[in-house]
Amino acid sequence: MTLPEYPEDKTCRVRIVNDKAVNRDGEYILHWMTTARRCRFNHALDRSVAWAKFLNKPLLICEALGLGHRWASARFHSFISAGMLDNHSFSSVAGVEYYPYVEREPGAGKGLIKALSRNACVVVTDDWPCFITPKIVEAAGRQSEVHMEAVDGAGLLPVSKVPKVFSRAFHFRNWHQKNLHEHLEHFSSADPLKGLSGGIAVDSEILSTWNPVSIDELSEPAKWISELPIDQEVAEVRIHPGGSVEASRRLASFVENILDRYGEDRNHPDRVATSTLSPYLHFGHISSQEIYQEATEADAGENGDAFIDQLITWRELGLNYCHYHEEVDSWSSLPEWARKTMEEHAGDLRPVTYSLEQLEAAETHDEIWNAAQRQLKGEGLIHNYLRMLWGKKILEWSPHPKDALEVMVHLNNRWALDGRDPNSYSGITWCLGRYDRAWGPERPIFGKIRYMSSENTARKLRIKPYLQQWGEENLFSR
Ligand SMILES: Cc1cc2nc3c(=O)[nH]c(=O)nc-3n(C[C@H](O)[C@H](O)[C@H](O)COP(=O)(O)OP(=O)(O)OC[C@H]3O[C@@H](n4cnc5c(N)ncnc54)[C@H](O)[C@@H]3O)c2cc1C
Repeated sequence: MTLPEYPEDKTCRVRIVNDKAVNRDGEYILHWMTTARRCRFNHALDRSVAWAKFLNKPLLICEALGLGHRWASARFHSFISAGMLDNHSFSSVAGVEYYPYVEREPGAGKGLIKALSRNACVVVTDDWPCFITPKIVEAAGRQSEVHMEAVDGAGLLPVSKVPKVFSRAFHFRNWHQKNLHEHLEHFSSADPLKGLSGGIAVDSEILSTWNPVSIDELSEPAKWISELPIDQEVAEVRIHPGGSVEASRRLASFVENILDRYGEDRNHPDRVATSTLSPYLHFGHISSQEIYQEATEADAGENGDAFIDQLITWRELGLNYCHYHEEVDSWSSLPEWARKTMEEHAGDLRPVTYSLEQLEAAETHDEIWNAAQRQLKGEGLIHNYLRMLWGKKILEWSPHPKDALEVMVHLNNRWALDGRDPNSYSGITWCLGRYDRAWGPERPIFGKIRYMSSENTARKLRIKPYLQQWGEENLFSR
């Protein structure tokens, strides 16, 4: 009987990244944690564990945090380092070796994966269809000295199993309602590290070249983060601390206290009726599977369905687009009808225009917009309804719609805790017509793009409490 060469994959999520051989004499399975930064409900970690059991080797988890990516800031570093502390606790309870590394100077982390792969049997990492991850995975595949796999744990559906790009939400909803069930049979494990053995001594030369960040440093990150050459103006958001423990706490509280009124209340910023889980999903501190499981078990009727629809239809529509298109933030990625109508109106007189600096500083004539921008800068999030208005107004006030796209990408990705995500691009481009249809009457500047106004928003929503919190007169009392 010949033994199988690889552990079986029933999930359809595993992608082989290079053509290098498995080193059966290696010392460990290297799990390189990059986007699914959690030790629970994690398909990539399940795969590493499957390899560890298959080859009867211990597991080494390396979670690294680089400096060199666009929009790196104290805000994102604080959030991620809180997650590293949780991952350290989970792995030490399980007795699994955890290697947290933070780059202190640009380029200092280069070579770490190559060095660690030298003593590995196999390298397993996360697949994620957006931002810098696809390029990093391909480069790591070349550098790794052994067989490397990338595992897609981004959503409930493996992105490669969605057969085409869906341009409207209802078409995608119809499709996944028929196809999701088969992927729900292969949920990731709630406690993948249970029963694994540790006992790895990482090469001392590697440890001295790429010094792991200590537990004391992870417990008190403010000082060392403040010394890093990253955007320090974008500061930590204390009310949204990172980590998988906080993510699970939020999920439990949301399901217990909010889910059964989600559908009715979610569009009202004053009612605190959404989960605020988007940053945790973005940094992989929680899995959409865990959220799905908790929300369906709560049996919250139409409200539960409304929430799950956001989680699957809208969230995975963004993943779907990124999987098929690299240029997610380019003008040419917008639907043809939308580009045409905006270009036809590009020369329309704009009663007011604002520069990026004015917008970033929340210095417009529109108090609702300014409040939303201040919330983005202060808390790293804007309520979804106001986020739509925020984007539409940037279109209205930009000299050209192409400028609007650039400004939205910059402001959102620099300040939003959930920025640089597939949903960032789907939300921003929705404001410019993606996933939407042409609307009448045709208007100046917008053409056939759906229009939104602050006046209407003020009529529809109870906006006063929001303005009390984020209006200018309160700036100095916060
Ligand atoms: C201009 C603009 C920019 C946006 N930028 C981002 C971004 O950078 N990152 C981001 O995650 N989302 C973005 N969105 C989508 C949406 O605003 C957020 O996902 C949502 O507000 C997150 O809040 P929540 O976690 O409380 O959502 P909940 O209402 O609790 O929903 C649960 C989850 O479902 C998903 N979801 C909910 N609403 C949407 C939506 N409209 N589109 C896609 N997924 C959704 C999110 O993953 C969310 O965490 C943007 C929308 C717009 C209009």
